[in-house]
Amino acid sequence: MSTKKFLLEEKDIPSAWYNIIPDMPNKPLPLLNPKTKDPLKTEELFPIFAEELARQEMNVTDSWIAIPDEVRELYRIWRPTPLVRATGLEKALDTPAHIYFKNESVSPIGSHKLNSALAQAYYCKKEGVTNITTETGAGQWGAALSFAAKAFGLELAVYMVKVSYHQKPYRRSIMQTFGAEVIASPSMSTRAGKDIITRNPNYQGSLGTAISEAVELAMQTPNCKYTLGSALNHVMLHQTVIGLEAEKQMEMAGEYPDVVIACFGGGSNFSGISFPFLRHKLRENSAVRVVAAEPTSCPKLTRGEFQYDYGDEAGYTPLIPMFTLGHNFAPANIHAGGLRYHGSGAIVSQLMKDGLMEAVDIQQLDTFKAATIFARAEGIIPAPESSHAIAAAIQEAEAAKREGKKKVILFNLSGHGLIDMASYDRYFAGDLANYSVSDEELKQNFKELEKII
Ligand SMILES: *Cc1c(COP(=O)(O)O)cnc(C)c1O
Repeated sequence: MSTKKFLLEEKDIPSAWYNIIPDMPNKPLPLLNPKTKDPLKTEELFPIFAEELARQEMNVTDSWIAIPDEVRELYRIWRPTPLVRATGLEKALDTPAHIYFKNESVSPIGSHKLNSALAQAYYCKKEGVTNITTETGAGQWGAALSFAAKAFGLELAVYMVKVSYHQKPYRRSIMQTFGAEVIASPSMSTRAGKDIITRNPNYQGSLGTAISEAVELAMQTPNCKYTLGSALNHVMLHQTVIGLEAEKQMEMAGEYPDVVIACFGGGSNFSGISFPFLRHKLRENSAVRVVAAEPTSCPKLTRGEFQYDYGDEAGYTPLIPMFTLGHNFAPANIHAGGLRYHGSGAIVSQLMKDGLMEAVDIQQLDTFKAATIFARAEGIIPAPESSHAIAAAIQEAEAAKREGKKKVILFNLSGHGLIDMASYDRYFAGDLANYSVSDEELKQNFKELEKII
């Protein structure tokens, strides 16, 4: 057990994505049409999404969906990604636990987001789409999609959450380098944006608002589709390449995880690393635990309500059955911009409801502390989002130490933080704070939810 890094060859890049729905004991409730409240038909998604992506979204029967050669060819730029035994971190924590991480930060844009961006751009191109729109929080999804759009010759407009637009100017530069148009959201370029600015002129934006703007532009532009970087079933599907590779790599390491951990925004990197392992639990009753780590300031899984809600602020998206804080929830301006989302995907929400996964919440200062320990031990500076997973992994390793037990921990390093150094500066200067949400505030938001369930 002296090897630290477990590498696959290009031929080991998965040839199919794993769809967990056929293996779920209870399927996710159907999406609903926002106007009629009737279960949504696949065709109703066609005006917004590429048709093949809409079909993947609604597919509850096929466990495996072939990855197109054109997408797999582009995956070869950086996949397979390494699995690393974090021996430095184990030593720093003086824990009997074995800690492994899947390093998705090695993608050209620095996060897991490219796994789905390339797939989505490919299907749009194949169907004759010329323009695509999207939203981005911290800028990771926008950056990934900018490269994917360029790779397939599509024009892209990105609505970027205003607070991140100013906090993370380099992500904007990256998107512009790849040729995308970037607009700070809320903007005056859409009705949804104008409405919100009129109500609250200083609003710094949220993913929910940016989604409304991007959907509105897509619906008003000919030959234009909208794309989403998280929460939806087809995004979870594309991300399973992470866990499918990790499954083989854990075998190479001769170990099997007791617990699989990922940070949680809308659930895509969490689903990506955990669903292939959860499949062992669902099919063969393996004892693996899967844990989502979310910010205390945006606690949809640990304190949200399971209810139908919109994926966006203005209510343009289908109604999604999910754990939500309410689509009007305005999260604090934490530096993990990619985790500032009010809701969660339909699949993970059902898994959570059925007790097949767990969630923990992590305070902002604990994430930066964990990030610093990890960076000093492993030489990689993690994204503030990923640091939630690291903090949760450290908690698990410390529990193993207290109990004097060996435990195998696997977490996903969803991205690096080299473009987030301003956040680290603020942490070292003592300028960062913890944020919690009061029960009152949550109750207020829950009141605004329609009680469909
Ligand atoms: C977007 C992002 C996340 C959160 O999104 P999920 O869909 O929940 O994975 C986490 N980490 C990084 C680095 C991201 O860019």
